Amino acid sequence: MKPRPSCSILMLAAILQLFAITTALSQPAAIRLEVDATDAPRKALHARMHIPAQPGKLTLLYPKWIPGEHGPNGPITDAVGLKFSAADKSIPWQRDAEDMFAFHLEVPAGADAVDVAFDFLLPPSTGGFSSGASATGQLLDLSWNLVVLYPKGVRADQIRYAATLRLPEGWKYGTALSVSNESASGIEFSPVSLETLADSPVIAGAHFRSIDLTPGAPRPHRLHIAADSAAALEIKPEDRAHFSHLVAETGALFGARHYNSYNFLLTLSDHVAHFGLEHHESSDNRQPERYLIDEDLRKVMALLLPHEMTHSWNGKYRRPAGLATTNFHQPMKSELLWIYEGLTDYLGLVLSARSGLWTSENFRQWLALDAARLDHQAGRTWRPLVDTTVAAQLLYLARPEGTAWRRGVDFYPEGDLIWLEADILIRRRTEGRKSLDDFCKKFYGGENSPPRVEPYALDDVVVALNEIAAYDWRQFFQSRVYAANPRAPLGGVEGSGWRLGYTNTVPDMLKSLESARKFTDMSFSLGVTIKEDGAIIDVIPGSPADLAGVGPAMKLVAVNGRKWTAEILRAAVKSAKTNGVELLVENEDYFKTCKLDYHDGEKYPCLVRDGSKPDLLSEILRPLTTAPIAAVDPK
Ligand SMILES: [Zn+2]
Repeated sequence: MKPRPSCSILMLAAILQLFAITTALSQPAAIRLEVDATDAPRKALHARMHIPAQPGKLTLLYPKWIPGEHGPNGPITDAVGLKFSAADKSIPWQRDAEDMFAFHLEVPAGADAVDVAFDFLLPPSTGGFSSGASATGQLLDLSWNLVVLYPKGVRADQIRYAATLRLPEGWKYGTALSVSNESASGIEFSPVSLETLADSPVIAGAHFRSIDLTPGAPRPHRLHIAADSAAALEIKPEDRAHFSHLVAETGALFGARHYNSYNFLLTLSDHVAHFGLEHHESSDNRQPERYLIDEDLRKVMALLLPHEMTHSWNGKYRRPAGLATTNFHQPMKSELLWIYEGLTDYLGLVLSARSGLWTSENFRQWLALDAARLDHQAGRTWRPLVDTTVAAQLLYLARPEGTAWRRGVDFYPEGDLIWLEADILIRRRTEGRKSLDDFCKKFYGGENSPPRVEPYALDDVVVALNEIAAYDWRQFFQSRVYAANPRAPLGGVEGSGWRLGYTNTVPDMLKSLESARKFTDMSFSLGVTIKEDGAIIDVIPGSPADLAGVGPAMKLVAVNGRKWTAEILRAAVKSAKTNGVELLVENEDYFKTCKLDYHDGEKYPCLVRDGSKPDLLSEILRPLTTAPIAAVDPK
């Protein structure tokens, strides 16, 4: 057995570590980082670093907790070919036995720096977030956290990196970083803190364009697009105008901006991971190649850019204290994601409508789907919303099968309902003189500034809301977020002059969702969702499908004796009043017939106007500005 280390050994280790930290902090020189991305099309990045250091023990860390992803997702497995040297002499290293992201080495006497070289293997898998697929033969999304190490113990905002980047020949790029020099050998970026570097991805590609969304404005707003084809770069004039209008609407909503410039980075490819990731002065938005062309894709993900831009205020500038960590090794505490993500999601939906990216009917159909899904979710009986935020780092990666009982990252859609209700409450209690917009201005606005972080606690939000409209906001959130509720919070929908109802016609938004995501949604009738190939994604506990023995991950083969298609299934449900519905399912190698006791016909959620109350929802969606500046391509 191995004895516990003695006190004196621990003290010595602490002194050495303190020495290493002090040394790192006192180093005025920036760490040099050279990234060679010329092999990105064959899925490899080559990184070299020159890290000022003093002789003695040194621990270097690979970023583990990734801001915006709210989890320990740093793709350490794909950091390979690691070599350390000083003055061209190789230095041995050991990975920490407990912390897979830490590398220990001894800087030799006489050395004043350590050179590090490693490769990052870009994955082909389109799952996950920034650690998912990021490169094709035509483009690259570069997240700097993939290709850096940093000394243990430093604050990410106090250590500087001077980064250079080499791209495949002829590729153009977009980023929020300032460029100090550009030549045939690469792009040199002005030195920035590690925090800013990791917060400033670069997109690049053979097919690339930049659009100035606010020509002549003091703060530039640009839309950079990298795509797998030239055709995918075509953006409709009305969409360009909507994105310009979005910028104007965020200014009117928050009243101040906390960035020097803002850069929408939009990657269009069927071969990268699809998601959005927020940054202070940019957002990393990755969508299918035909996002700007295909009406279904554009409609179902119209909210992406409004959502990610809102994060510049809610998430980047104002951030829950538990998520305002000092480096990428400090674990994040994500309890307040129902504000960070939940309010952002609500504002993203509102801004989609105010900017013209959505019609009011698009908004209502989306909200109805959110509300109905949450209202049918069996997992609500055991798991309060707050547990989906605390456990977000697990739930982001959970498989879709079983979601109805497990719950997912519901603080997004349930945030829509809760913050709509807060908005309605403020409007009603102040007789229309105030709204959630006033809270946004108060809490997220203030003076224009460069990027900075102002951490907050729940108490700060409660106090600010009370200054807009006096109410027991703590209890309001306690009952909706911190207690398990078997039913979804529909008070906002009902207070806004609408109510959740069901129709027998597939709403346009659901049609677009089914088309874009290749599935059939019979959640609200049979209690089941099905992939294009018949694989059953999920079954709602207690639903007719569940009671008849259908389970997630089975495969639907036939409906009432006929090979299944979405149309045949819908027709069977429609005539279920008299015939019932019989599903033949395959469960691994065995088949079974499930007889569903369901006779109510097709059911899809919709919002129904309640004429007894004023239509506050339409008030909320009304644009705050009228004259967006036309977008132009830079010369
Ligand atoms: Zn978000």
